[in-house]
Amino acid sequence: GVVLVTGITGFIGTHTALAFLEAGYDVKGTARSTAKAEGWIAHFPAYKACYTYAVVEDIAAAGAFDEAVKGCDIIAHIASPAHWSQSDNEADLLIPAINGTKNVLYATKHEPRITRVVFTSSLAAIIEPSREPGKLVVETEWNPTTYEEAKVSTNAPVVYRASKALAERAFWDYIKDEKPTWAGSTICPCATSGPPIQPLTSLAALNTSVAFMWDLASGKFKDSVPPGPPVHVDVRDVALAHVRAVERDVAKNQRYLLVAGSHIPDEFTDVIRRHFPTLRDNLPPVDLSKARQSNFKFDASKVQRELGIQFTPLATMVVDTMNTILLLQEHF
Ligand code: NDP
Repeated sequence: GVVLVTGITGFIGTHTALAFLEAGYDVKGTARSTAKAEGWIAHFPAYKACYTYAVVEDIAAAGAFDEAVKGCDIIAHIASPAHWSQSDNEADLLIPAINGTKNVLYATKHEPRITRVVFTSSLAAIIEPSREPGKLVVETEWNPTTYEEAKVSTNAPVVYRASKALAERAFWDYIKDEKPTWAGSTICPCATSGPPIQPLTSLAALNTSVAFMWDLASGKFKDSVPPGPPVHVDVRDVALAHVRAVERDVAKNQRYLLVAGSHIPDEFTDVIRRHFPTLRDNLPPVDLSKARQSNFKFDASKVQRELGIQFTPLATMVVDTMNTILLLQEHF
């Protein structure tokens, strides 16, 4: 079958496209320009025969994906603003996230071959931590932020998290209201690390979640480490979950939380210190005594049970991420 992967040029988009290709699917990627779409396959020439693309300049424009879906059997909708550096809450985050998702879903009316749609949501759609700290994170919970609240919020991450929650709500609302013939599933990863193998032009262009690790390793946080996300998951596990979600019957109409574990930044620092001695001078001091005090309570057993995902350990994730970043650093 052919899988439409929206946002193929991104971090999770790249890994997910490769996971589908490795599983034997053909992939049709969407990117904002021809140069980006062709640049992607130039990185992975072994898959040239299994790759096509569609240029979607503005995912929020009405009918944006109506042409792109043609010839596809499955959709993985991944494209969405994945940062919180917005200047305009609606134009930069909320509208592309929500309308981009609605446009993908309405486009399925133009391609009766579609059997499955998987949407990359987020832990952010499950909890708004500033409102409900300490709450048990499970698939039945929802970030309660409304569009009206997000529109005027001055807390940038709150707006990002709302964009994910509202986009995922739009996904399930579409299924409820339009009763499509395809089945939907959503993947809700927490802060995702792992090798940044997407096409990059500089380390400054690293995606937000991996940039934290490079900031830590390159000395930016030597004197003071910002709290950072308290939970982690490896991008390769996130990618595989997308593939399994469209292959398994049990995943129809299901939502999956992906959290491998909780951590404090010192645990990242400690792995970097032990495995990359040349970076030691950049690193802040390590105090692992607080490592088990995390009050982040989660239950991510569903994705392990139903999709057979075995989470990559923290140390493997950090080492593999750093090895890729150091190779990139030599290259740039
Ligand atoms: P990236 O920034 O690497 O990828 C984002 C992708 O979406 C890129 O391909 C980007 O295209 C595309 N995109 C963003 N905004 C637009 C827009 N307005 N119009 C068209 N394309 C757009 O980040 P990630 O790979 O981390 O994020 C991918 C998805 O995963 C997002 O939906 C994100 O919310 C979700 N997610 C990420 C987590 C993480 O920790 N990384 C955790 C949970 C969910 P371009 O390259 O041209 O900008």
